[in-house]
Amino acid sequence: MTDLDWHEYSVETQAIRAGHRRSHEGEHSVPIHMTSSYVFNSAEEAALRFTGEQPGNIYSRFTNPTVDTFQQRLALMEKGDRCLAFASGMAAIMAVGMSLLKAGDHVVCSRSVFGNTVLTFENYFAKFGVETTFVELPNLDGWAAAIQPNTQFLFVETPSNPLMELVDVRALADIAHQRDCLLVVDNVFCTPIMQQPLSLGADIVVHSATKYLDGQGRCVGGAVIASDEIIEKLIYPFLRTGGATMSAFNAWVFLSGLETLAVRMKAHCDSALELAKWLEQQPAVEKVHYPGLESHAQHELAKQQQSHFGAVVSFELKGGKELAWKLINATQMLSITANLGDVKSTITHPSTTTHGRLAPEVRLQAGIKDSLVRVSVGLENIEDIKRDLLRGLIL
Ligand SMILES: *Cc1c(COP(=O)(O)O)cnc(C)c1O
Repeated sequence: MTDLDWHEYSVETQAIRAGHRRSHEGEHSVPIHMTSSYVFNSAEEAALRFTGEQPGNIYSRFTNPTVDTFQQRLALMEKGDRCLAFASGMAAIMAVGMSLLKAGDHVVCSRSVFGNTVLTFENYFAKFGVETTFVELPNLDGWAAAIQPNTQFLFVETPSNPLMELVDVRALADIAHQRDCLLVVDNVFCTPIMQQPLSLGADIVVHSATKYLDGQGRCVGGAVIASDEIIEKLIYPFLRTGGATMSAFNAWVFLSGLETLAVRMKAHCDSALELAKWLEQQPAVEKVHYPGLESHAQHELAKQQQSHFGAVVSFELKGGKELAWKLINATQMLSITANLGDVKSTITHPSTTTHGRLAPEVRLQAGIKDSLVRVSVGLENIEDIKRDLLRGLIL
């Protein structure tokens, strides 16, 4: 199995087979290496491992064979040289910042990113003298205007959570590179099945494996994918010291998640498109945010940039928070939880949960109204999902 060059295979096949070096036991499924440290044959070998002259495992904060299988597989799927796994998506984002930034630096970040990503830049990197400018996601001129001589990277999520807005990744990468900045893309919503930002010119991809990569809501994890140089010189030394490592057990769960990722994503997206079209017909619904709809401002870009339109649908009701909460409470099957990317459909009220800690004016600038409801479309029968929503969609 190790002899195959997985670069020649498609992403669906890589997701199932790449990265596993079968041991002398001949196991078919990837083994879980539950060990904190590794034993050396001699003092000499130990010394060589620590200086890096001899490759190999030392301690599971740095490397672990099960985690390594996950890393190799995801790197191939994202068309990157290398991947490093982290304890969570936020740990992966933190690692990118800690590795690339120093006091006096500047970041340009989309206003429409995951709430904790905003807080990471605003509350934590700011404490150490890193300034962040937040810009509107789709507006390329706004990005270009925000770049300063000390800007290290642009940070973007496309499509965004929860409004499903997009940015042209190739155009944004060009803007970044003209000004000597890197482009970091959070690819959680698309996964490499739908969009491979490194192929579009991005420099770094971050993931929350907690979402679609697991796909069944079991584990928290994250990843950074980039060139050999960025990983080796910047990210790996921080992982080794900072310590937000993915556990071998979680890597094993994510590996089995990856095996079904392609079929799950296609099914999720088919149902989401159908639900979005159906929601647009409902009298209680004011507006539906979904890139697969002709009414979406970036429908054409979505068709070019992504192979599918995504599995998150958000919509505004004709009313405020009260109506949104009433709808959420009327559902019986959908899970009321802020998680997404699960086989189980989930429903949430972004303005009082995922985006609740943002200042009200920041939240409104990002377009997160009190009437907004987000559904992460799972793999239940679509008619059952519609029926459950209909309970609360009656005016
Ligand atoms: C969930 C999420 C994160 C953070 O990931 P965790 O695994 O929860 O730490 C980052 N970005 C996006 C888009 C997410 O949905």
